[in-house]
Amino acid sequence: MRPDKRPRGPRRPESTPPSGPPTPGLAQLNERATSLWRRGQAWFYADDLMRPVHAAELVRVVDAEGRPCGLAVTSPASKLALRACGPWDGDAIPDREAFFSTRLAAAIERRAGMLGPRDGARLVHGEADDLPGLVVDRYGSVLVLQVTSQFVESSLDAIVPFLAERLDAETVIARNDVAVRKLEGLPQEVRLLHGARKEQVEIDENGLAHLVEPFTGHKTGFYLDQRPARAMVRELSKGRSVLDLFSYQGAFSLSALKGGASSATAVDQSARALELAQLGAQKNGLTGLTTERANVFDYLRSLRETDRRFDLIVLDPPAFAKSRRELDGALRGYRDLNRQAMRLLAPHGWLVTCSCSHHMTPPMFEDMARQASGGLPFKMALHQRIGAGSDHPVWLSMPESEYLKTLVLRRMD
Ligand code: SAH
Repeated sequence: MRPDKRPRGPRRPESTPPSGPPTPGLAQLNERATSLWRRGQAWFYADDLMRPVHAAELVRVVDAEGRPCGLAVTSPASKLALRACGPWDGDAIPDREAFFSTRLAAAIERRAGMLGPRDGARLVHGEADDLPGLVVDRYGSVLVLQVTSQFVESSLDAIVPFLAERLDAETVIARNDVAVRKLEGLPQEVRLLHGARKEQVEIDENGLAHLVEPFTGHKTGFYLDQRPARAMVRELSKGRSVLDLFSYQGAFSLSALKGGASSATAVDQSARALELAQLGAQKNGLTGLTTERANVFDYLRSLRETDRRFDLIVLDPPAFAKSRRELDGALRGYRDLNRQAMRLLAPHGWLVTCSCSHHMTPPMFEDMARQASGGLPFKMALHQRIGAGSDHPVWLSMPESEYLKTLVLRRMD
């Protein structure tokens, strides 16, 4: 989620700019912000506060009446001046070691069942773990951090040794090549933080081996968030022909083949991703994978001239709407793509369609699918809604944290 925008919520009435000198270690909410805080709001602007923020630091938050609310992290560089990070006993400000070791231990504890020696899992999911500005993904003995706040950046000396020791990590990497860092005045970089450089690591997902390249792969190396949708595809695939559009390294295709698919065609523009898909198939002893390096839009156009049909299609494009302004165009894009995919379904065929745009709400996405199916010579039924896995919790007070939407649709014949 881009921290330059506050999640949907009550409209912002006019407010007065903060006044008075900054107080280190303390932030006071104005009256309006106090009521937003009580409703679970996590993000606040400078003009929600009684005084300007002092530095990128941990602060105690008090409400307009001076009553204690909890801890937050402030940032003078970003439009988002303050991000909540949960309660803390007493009224002192914890030092960085105490704060991070407590929060990180709690986040790891929440995922205790997902930490076999070769498992991939998101261990820290920002605000949902009361750690705004930090993502930690684990790929076996490799940890990949994504840091998007100045405070977290300046606390790596407390975070990295704790994680390395607690999780027995051989390698810790910062994948800080995300554009959102610019909003905090932070540089774009990929850097080794601890241990030895490791270009490739093998993880296990539901009994399937996947090869992850943490320095160069997309995101932190792998789309961990699609684990539940891949399990669903595996369940539906027996004896079916599968088309995996925007496949990346074919994690959906491999899941389908593991589930007994008769064939899987993975289509992506990235040559390296498709090489990894083939290597993954070999590693898992799976046959029946075809990879097609192509622009999906051209590929779909070329299929239109054939009578090829598929029993199961996965449609998992990159986020089309990077901002609210792009939403209308994005909706049209999703609709066209989904309609084309629906046309390629064999009778009784399944379409597993996804959107990872934060700005597209689940009802909007469903509405798009409804429109895409309009005018087709068959009906489409909605079988299931799937989100990201439980290691990517959605914070109820922050609807945008539900960014991944997957619909399991079926052609009715
Ligand atoms: N389904 C994947 C994740 C897909 S991410 C998984 O479960 O791991 C989106 C993918 O779309 C990326 O691999 C990117 O290379 C690819 N991509 C983006 N635009 C594309 C286009 N126009 N044609 C083909 N591939 C595209």
